[in-house]
Amino acid sequence: MTSYPALHMIIDGEAVSGGDRNTFAIVNPATGETIGALPLATTADLDRALEAAQRGFVRWRNSSPQERAAVLNGAARLLIERQDMLARIATMEQGKPLAESRIEVMMVAGLFQFYAGEVFRIYGRTLVRPAGTRSTVTYQPVGPVAAFSPWNFPLGNPGRKLGAPIAAGCSVIMKSAEETPASALGVLQCLLDAGLPKEVAQAVFGVPDEVSRYLLASPIIRKLSFTGSTVIGKHLAKLAAEDMKRTTMELGGHGPVLVFDDVDVDRVLDVMVGHKYRNAGQVCVSPTRFIVQEDIFDKFRTGFAERAKAIKVGNGLDDGIQMGPMANPRRPDAMERLIGGAKAAGATLHTGGERLGNQGFFYAPSVLSEIPLDAEIMNEEPFGPVALINPFGSADDMIAEANRLPYGLAAYSWTNDVKMQRRIAREVETGMLGINSVAIGGADSPFGGVKWSGHGHEDGPEGLQACLVTKAVHEG
Ligand code: NAD
Repeated sequence: MTSYPALHMIIDGEAVSGGDRNTFAIVNPATGETIGALPLATTADLDRALEAAQRGFVRWRNSSPQERAAVLNGAARLLIERQDMLARIATMEQGKPLAESRIEVMMVAGLFQFYAGEVFRIYGRTLVRPAGTRSTVTYQPVGPVAAFSPWNFPLGNPGRKLGAPIAAGCSVIMKSAEETPASALGVLQCLLDAGLPKEVAQAVFGVPDEVSRYLLASPIIRKLSFTGSTVIGKHLAKLAAEDMKRTTMELGGHGPVLVFDDVDVDRVLDVMVGHKYRNAGQVCVSPTRFIVQEDIFDKFRTGFAERAKAIKVGNGLDDGIQMGPMANPRRPDAMERLIGGAKAAGATLHTGGERLGNQGFFYAPSVLSEIPLDAEIMNEEPFGPVALINPFGSADDMIAEANRLPYGLAAYSWTNDVKMQRRIAREVETGMLGINSVAIGGADSPFGGVKWSGHGHEDGPEGLQACLVTKAVHEG
């Protein structure tokens, strides 16, 4: 049986903890119990991490593709070997059902394997020039990366923050979420155990605003990679701009789902309800605003609520649990505020709308319909287990509603009309679109948004390109 590990930072390959460092209490969201104490970085720790990252960059940018691929493939093997332990740790500190944590381990392993192959495809090009001269275009690693990631995918987010930079030849200082540190440390440890030179990647923790300000003020850091809310993303983008650092910003969403009246409603519900409540809705690509054509609206919302009621909620470590607690006490508070506000504005609550149990941070799978468009929940990312279902008449109105918000991360559409599918693909403002599908990601597929959902990509060749700078060399 896996127990929750002792916590530390990893700086220059060394486990750093103790001394007079402040600590942060880690809480199991299913029980409310404190399960660990996380040491927080001092300024001296951050200076050490910066110095190591600078050395690490010089070492790693000169590494062979074979060495990088061997590290990434080796780490993928170790992740698979350690799948059960890592999944249990992730569930203990984040709450999601064990089956979801196990999938997350495999996602990271798959991403590392993909980038192990991509390392060999960082091609440049040679331009056509007169004899005796030569012009080439090459790609080089951007430099040390500061990577800040949130708690909703405690393994997957750190995997994304490490995989592409390491493939590109960068060094990394990762500050993953203080609330889920052991998962992030577990992913980094797999890379170190697979032979990543110790100075190449560091894991620090601290007061987020203090750590990010300090690291982004340093000229050593050449790129910021952030996943989190739009409001923090805008703040960090301004700090990065001071030193013209490259940025990749994976920010919030408010996923629209367009459901047309030619579909098999039960089939759509069978897929979408599970997808809505995955990770208790704490997913940036979660389907949120269900934009349903009038003729099927009643059947859709009734069927949605019936399925939502049947979801088995409990401690993610227990067998058969389909939805765990929310990850921290801020989330049920936010649900109460947003769902309460929607009800006060005239929305109908079909199920849920309440906390569950007397320990931990559980909130019931919830369904609202006929929500006024000016209710806060129709404009702010709810990031929780609530489906918002509204009726619409024409395709024009449905597409206008999908594009109403400044977000554009993931969108979904259900229709059998091929012309409509193509219209949606052309007109809906989004970084990722699922047509009759919720499988919108993959190691080889760019993940990222438009508008306030951010810019740049992770995963796919695009994720690697985001860690490279272009250099044109002309020889006379
Ligand atoms: P938050 O926005 O403050 O934190 C989100 C993440 O960003 C956390 O991991 C946090 O440690 C980090 N962070 C916050 N301030 C930072 C700073 N100044 N520098 C560096 N990192 C910083 O708040 P929260 O309560 O954790 O989440 C609130 C909202 O954030 C959610 O409702 C959701 O909309 C959004 N969110 C989005 C994602 C995503 O994957 N896009 C993930 C988590 C949260």
